[in-house]
Amino acid sequence: MPIRQLPEDLINRIAAGEVVERPASVVKELVENAIDAGASRIVVTTAGGGKTLLRIEDDGHGMDAADLVLSVERHATSKLATDDLDDIRSLGFRGEALASIGSVAELTISSRTEDAESGLRIVVDNGRRIGPVPQAMNRGTIVEVKNLFARIPARLKFLKSDRSEAGAVTDVLKRLAMANPAVHFVLNGSDRSASNWPAVSGAAALQSRLAQVIGDDFAQNAVTLATARHGVVVAGLAGLPTYTRANSLSQFYFVNGRSVRDKVLVGAVRAAYADYTFRDRFPVVALYIAIDPAEVDVNVHPAKAELRFRDAGAVRSAVIRAIGEALTAAGFKASTSVAEGVLGAFSAPAYPAPVDVPGSTLPYRVPAPGPYSGYERSLPAGSGNPFSPSFRQGALDGLSEPSARVEPHVEASPAELSEYPLGTARAQMFDNFIIAQNGEGLLLVDQHAAHERLVYERFKAQLASGPVPSQAQLIPLVIELPEEDCARLEDAASELERFGLYLERFGPRAVAVRETPALLGNSDIDGLVRDVADGLAEWDSIAAVNDRMEAIIARMACHGSVRSGRRLRVDEMNALLRDMEATPHSGQCIHGRPTYVELKQKDIERLFGRSR
Ligand code: ADP
Ligand code: MG
Repeated sequence: MPIRQLPEDLINRIAAGEVVERPASVVKELVENAIDAGASRIVVTTAGGGKTLLRIEDDGHGMDAADLVLSVERHATSKLATDDLDDIRSLGFRGEALASIGSVAELTISSRTEDAESGLRIVVDNGRRIGPVPQAMNRGTIVEVKNLFARIPARLKFLKSDRSEAGAVTDVLKRLAMANPAVHFVLNGSDRSASNWPAVSGAAALQSRLAQVIGDDFAQNAVTLATARHGVVVAGLAGLPTYTRANSLSQFYFVNGRSVRDKVLVGAVRAAYADYTFRDRFPVVALYIAIDPAEVDVNVHPAKAELRFRDAGAVRSAVIRAIGEALTAAGFKASTSVAEGVLGAFSAPAYPAPVDVPGSTLPYRVPAPGPYSGYERSLPAGSGNPFSPSFRQGALDGLSEPSARVEPHVEASPAELSEYPLGTARAQMFDNFIIAQNGEGLLLVDQHAAHERLVYERFKAQLASGPVPSQAQLIPLVIELPEEDCARLEDAASELERFGLYLERFGPRAVAVRETPALLGNSDIDGLVRDVADGLAEWDSIAAVNDRMEAIIARMACHGSVRSGRRLRVDEMNALLRDMEATPHSGQCIHGRPTYVELKQKDIERLFGRSR
């Protein structure tokens, strides 16, 4: 076939493949145009997940007839006064959004400038232009996009459910609103209940906007950032290390007013929190970077969602310092590493992980079934079961005791000590660490991490033999969540029942939990449901709940476990050790961290210079 020059509308459709991926990307382009036009109020309306209708109305400077015609041409922009791509101060500059959208949908633009006598309307129907014709309206611009991709079945097929597309629109608008607190945003239409975020100004504008969009909760659990170092301004809010989520969807990054995904910033935040947060938890942050436009290349991604810093190292260190200083000022001191030398002597778990079927051919002697072995099964609920609901209440009784509890010394014969790989419990420290002794030395067990693994494995076993047994809540627990999360939970409700979690929609922004997995007891159901919602958001595009079984029970197990801060009696501690020995993979918690460390007698001697 000979080479041919492609016609204009085909070129536009090809370009649309990059810029217009889904309704949310159209909303992003059109709202950015409105912001570039100096709008102070932007109203976004959607229907059918944005597939049937998207409407963006602004009160910006508008366009006259000549501009209106040019605006839908490819590579036509008012935003590059010179040919300098290194000094971009507007959100748009590529001049292709409107042309692209007009090639794959029915695009109607109505616009009026301040001194025009009336407005004008132009239509581009899948590449065919009609108009402009007069149109009565106020100053500003109204862009309507109908039946996106209706003529391109191959693209339409890749769109998700209306609910999912509407959720993506909400997400995009949230980010735009966070980046532009001085603009009043309204989001409405048949896809959702309306959101209204009035303009905010003054010193706390950013905080107020974040509170409007993410919730008061975040604003109250975060420290304010405001530093400038080597030409990099870092502002925004950084969540307290205890205020974390199970995925990174609540980390928001903005560079010069543009919402971006950027590895440098993500890495810097991870580094800044490394000393404070567990590896698998994600702090909530809204980070605003301001930098000389010449120091950043925004033209590396068609939708401008990614960028490149010329001096990534300077940006990284500015972010780490800003967050580090703010957290320290708030009273969160980095833990010192004086203990490192000592910890070097501790060896990683060495005893072989038991085989996968507990009770079959265990590599060591199984203790005779005493009152506490396999307590969950052999004891009536509530008696001595350390993890049953009634037992938990009893845990409050001992609050006045010293925090390191030392058990009366029980002389154990060497035979008894070596009988169990994890030894015999001697004491509990900091309400979370069990100190045990076996034939060879001393063990430190993280009771929370260990119990998390036990609950997880038990969960898995229950699930393998049918739906997980549930227990009814006396009064349904109402949990308030963002509308998108509620919708996802509602969609997944019947699948979640298999996991013993029964919930239903309770108004637009809440769910009611009726039954919970019995083996979790009265644990942190609120946190559990939020984490499951986080998971659903993250997996949205990947797979159904069923394919995510392990991840879901991992999240649930985490909330059903004895948190640190629970004092255990010596028999409870021993029961936990025995259960660990009988449970597969109990050397690591479900997040891959060790559940215990072992210090051999000779290591202890070496610590004191006694090694021979
Ligand atoms: P870009 O934003 O990259 O310039 P677009 O295709 O998005 O490209 O828009 C083309 C031009 O149309 C813009 O440069 C701008 O002059 C004009 N325009 C688009 N939307 C608006 C709006 N809402 N208000 C005023 N002018 C607009
Ligand atoms: Mg644009």
